[in-house]
Amino acid sequence: MRYRVLTAISILVIALLGGRLLAQGWEQENNHVNETEKAPTDSVISEQKCDTDRDNDVKGTFITVPDEQLEKNFGVPEEVLRLDTSKLLDYFWNSPFLLCDIISRSSFEVNSGSITDSGSVSVTTDYSWNKAFAELIKREDFLPELEKKARTVYEDTEMAFGISKLQAILSQPTVKELIGNNRSGDTDCRMLERIIEDDAQSSSRAAFYLNGIGYNWGGTVYSAGSNNGTSYYTADSDWSSTTISNINNTIFSQYGLNPIYTPTTKYNCHSYAWYRSHNGNMKWIPNPDAFRYDSVCSEVTPSTVHEKDIIVYLNANYSPEHSGVVWSITDGNITIRSKWGQSGVYDHPITNVPANYYFNSNGVMVVYYRYHDYHSQYAGQEYHSGNSHYYLYADTCSVCLNQTNFHWVEVPCSGPPCILPYMSIPAEDEEQ
Ligand SMILES: [Zn+2]
Ligand SMILES: [Zn+2]
Repeated sequence: MRYRVLTAISILVIALLGGRLLAQGWEQENNHVNETEKAPTDSVISEQKCDTDRDNDVKGTFITVPDEQLEKNFGVPEEVLRLDTSKLLDYFWNSPFLLCDIISRSSFEVNSGSITDSGSVSVTTDYSWNKAFAELIKREDFLPELEKKARTVYEDTEMAFGISKLQAILSQPTVKELIGNNRSGDTDCRMLERIIEDDAQSSSRAAFYLNGIGYNWGGTVYSAGSNNGTSYYTADSDWSSTTISNINNTIFSQYGLNPIYTPTTKYNCHSYAWYRSHNGNMKWIPNPDAFRYDSVCSEVTPSTVHEKDIIVYLNANYSPEHSGVVWSITDGNITIRSKWGQSGVYDHPITNVPANYYFNSNGVMVVYYRYHDYHSQYAGQEYHSGNSHYYLYADTCSVCLNQTNFHWVEVPCSGPPCILPYMSIPAEDEEQ
């Protein structure tokens, strides 16, 4: 027998339970644990206190990238190295290496050494790791050929990437030096100089630009435990379908990966891993330190890593360059799920990543964190038996939404019949 009458008593009971309950009356025969003494509360069940201090040096674990991946990222066929400078530049210009490098950045600018609002310094990938680029900068006619390339860049159908590629090349210390040494004007570098100036000007129209996409300050997001705040930014536009397929083809050719979620400018790796792992994310978060140093976040050793831990890739300054989620561990092989800058979300081995997540030309430096914030929460099921109503509770993580420690909480109920209304009844439990 069921009654759909919402009585004053049931309102009182619901209020006592913290107003979280949508009553769903259904009977079930299962044994249940009597947990009357355990009143449902929002008490925090934090796992460990944070043992990572901002002042402690986070050194990370170095993992060597397999030769095969190094060859894919940095190697070129011998005959390419013998091409004339113009063709060699075309080769490098069109290489998956260059596009993957600029598209997978999560920091403010493509330019080297740009300071983020939280003070961490982004490090530009050293392009001389790439054999084609290492050969290019040795060529006497490199600068004139780069100037020629710059003069065609505005005709490029994907202008944003053309300019980004130029900016990335121009930010290489080796290239800066070449241009610096050209003060006497031996080479006409007017277009290159204009690109450098344009880049400086564009920075004033939005908080920062990344591959032609403007990012404006959006507000502050807060970490789960300590409420540490950090700035987020919102993108002024997203990729066209043409650009998305260009990115997909490039990532596939270089890394053999298809996206789990399609490339978007809207959110980045730190946002995906630390703040919100879901679709509809609109927050670009340049710096994950607010989360790394949260009270409910702790560093874990590589030997104790498990699923849903977070991996951070450190750059040569030991600043966080990239974040991802430890998605699965099978026979000791760890698969990471991470968002690559303005491209997609991928499932990948730790070392199968763009060169700008590398620590040096041989490998990556990673640190693992456990970041969960569990609260006891109603888990969507309840039933009536005897003089009691039983509610299913679980410890639910506000970060990853994982639920654990399911248990029934008994609350006195003036039944039978049960006075609580019900919203839905599981089919298998239709009638008693
Ligand atoms: Zn969690
Ligand atoms: Zn009841």
